Amino acid sequence: MSKPTSKADAGRLMLMLNALRLPATKAIWQTFAERADTEGWPAARFLSALIENEIAEREQRRLARHLNEAHLLAGKTIANFDFAAVPMVSKAQINALAEGDAWIDNGDNVLLFGPPGGGKSHLASALGLALVERGWRVLMTRTTDLVQRLQTARRDLGLEAAIAKLDKYHLVILDDLAYVSRDQAETSVLFELISARYERRSLLVTANKSIGDWSEVFPDPAMTVAAADRLVHHSTIFEMNVESYRRRAASTRKGPGRPATRATPKNTPDNQAGTQSDAV
Ligand code: ADP
Ligand code: MG
Repeated sequence: MSKPTSKADAGRLMLMLNALRLPATKAIWQTFAERADTEGWPAARFLSALIENEIAEREQRRLARHLNEAHLLAGKTIANFDFAAVPMVSKAQINALAEGDAWIDNGDNVLLFGPPGGGKSHLASALGLALVERGWRVLMTRTTDLVQRLQTARRDLGLEAAIAKLDKYHLVILDDLAYVSRDQAETSVLFELISARYERRSLLVTANKSIGDWSEVFPDPAMTVAAADRLVHHSTIFEMNVESYRRRAASTRKGPGRPATRATPKNTPDNQAGTQSDAV
């Protein structure tokens, strides 16, 4: 058996682990070293146990950090998205997008259009989550909030820098783009953002109006056309023209042929009303 590490050696090791920024190893090496000594682990096994542990913890910290900065909606996943409710969106296509890869590398876009309640924000957030889990960085924001931030930056002559700072996000999700309106001061900052990310960094836009009806979003028609062109050029578009999911879930309960296993939202007051007349 080897001698236990002296106090001075242990202290020096702690300092070196700090210097190398290996906090997980710093926390665990003594436990592992004792086990290695008592169980007679080969040196290589001891070393790889330490390194595996450091890598696993590092990945966990990264994930926690990136989830925290992404501002995704709580509890919205691809797994709990009911694809049967939105026949124009295929699960296979969403799963392919969730892999990231080419479209994120190329800075392509995803556009989700449709009336309120159709699941645009849910799907956007769920895609964001899947991408963060695969190592991409994502920011989800209400478009109005980001426009306000960018306007403030412009007032302080820092618009370009603020937009450049968003480059660290492989995907920026602009939720409810069409809610931005011209009277909400100048939305040309949004155009600057779209132009800056064009063919470099991805955007996922949700809007309750299709691009053809965006005349009120940007200050002038030419800017609307230019913004729409850039967004659409390399993009996957989903027209989610479905009725609000909650209302629909409530009414399909009354309808014939509803499969017993069909996923519905939990007992919210507005869909409990539909349960009395299940027998048709
Ligand atoms: P939108 O952003 O299009 O207005 P949301 O994504 O906010 O719609 O959807 C409204 C609510 O209904 C959310 O709680 C969402 O999770 C739920 N929802 C909508 N569509 C679906 C779906 N296809 N499967 C599961 N839940 C859904
Ligand atoms: Mg929404």
